[in-house]
Amino acid sequence: MSGPGFVGIKFCPECNNMLYPREDKESRVLMYACRNCEHRQLADNPCIYVNKLMHEVDELTQIVADVIHDPTLPKTEDHPCPKCTHPVSVFFQAQTRRAEEEMRLYYVCANMSCQHRWTE
Ligand SMILES: [Zn+2]
Ligand SMILES: [Zn+2]
Repeated sequence: MSGPGFVGIKFCPECNNMLYPREDKESRVLMYACRNCEHRQLADNPCIYVNKLMHEVDELTQIVADVIHDPTLPKTEDHPCPKCTHPVSVFFQAQTRRAEEEMRLYYVCANMSCQHRWTE
């Protein structure tokens, strides 16, 4: 199920927030950095991320690519896909740089050939 470049989501051992890949400009190594606290750790498989970092990763796209394959995520039938009208969507909270958006819910169409994502 994982395409090339697939990586799991990592979480901060200090505060359980999602860790984001970040290049350490000085030592030119790939790190995972927490945006909530000062925690940083070395990426255990730097090769995978090199190309992604070059292309200014769209965080939401990356998160969606991961979550849509996660069978543990909650599904809802109250939010049909606005694009293909598929009745079931997966939803999750995304954490962004801006604190005021932290509680925003994102929906992803559960139709694998659509995967439309939207937020409300
Ligand atoms: Zn943290
Ligand atoms: Zn759809």
